[in-house]
Amino acid sequence: MSSVDQSTVSPTSEPCVIVALDYSDPQLALALARRLDPSICRLKVGKELFTTGGPGVVEQLHGLGFEIFLDLKFHDIPNTCAKAVKASADMGVWMVNVHASGGRKMMEAAKDALVGHSGAVPRLIAVTVLTSFSEADIREVGVQSSPEQQVLHLASLAQQSGLDGVVCSAQEAGTIKQALGQTFTTVTPGIRPLGSASNDQTRITTPQQAVQLGSDYLVIGRPITQAEDPEQACRSIIQSIS
Ligand code: C5P
Repeated sequence: MSSVDQSTVSPTSEPCVIVALDYSDPQLALALARRLDPSICRLKVGKELFTTGGPGVVEQLHGLGFEIFLDLKFHDIPNTCAKAVKASADMGVWMVNVHASGGRKMMEAAKDALVGHSGAVPRLIAVTVLTSFSEADIREVGVQSSPEQQVLHLASLAQQSGLDGVVCSAQEAGTIKQALGQTFTTVTPGIRPLGSASNDQTRITTPQQAVQLGSDYLVIGRPITQAEDPEQACRSIIQSIS
């Protein structure tokens, strides 16, 4: 990672990088968070960290000044999903998500659960088709469309249900923006700066490509969390897209 002129990373623009804290040990997650700057990035707490650390880890990360994307991908009957979304809002998270395949009634109930919420209302987004799903996988669960057609179908359903956006691959972000408008938020994992290991991600884009393709928020894990200097890795990525 090349050295970065810190003055070029503006702390005033809205952070579009979300660092995925994929740890089972909350102490490791907190140690990493202490090395990052909440004025230039947000953090994602997923199923692994939330299962071990619970609401306490979210509270501690809030205490360090970070806004949190709670990535628990709720998918349940409308009442249960709505209550889980409401509980997330009560924790004060910045963004929360559900599976679009939970259907219109579930997504509408989740959106309704945020009406009248005291305090900042989290952004509510939907997972369309997991990027790990291949054409064969999607057929095996009984869907006859291609993954791309299904992504657009579910993104459109999420928008009609009142959600703010979707999680998708950066390669789908342009099509989604074109079909559903620029204000419909796209959140994209699978980001790899040039020269970094792809790990288990297959459909990867660089941070610059992701932004050019229409990604609003870039979810980035290992290229930052496994870097020798996570703060510099984070700053370098932000500088490359600013
Ligand atoms: O380490 P890496 O940058 O691959 O981390 C990407 C993050 O985005 C992980 O937390 C992963 O669970 C999440 N994610 C993903 N693909 C999706 C949805 C979420 O990689 N379709």
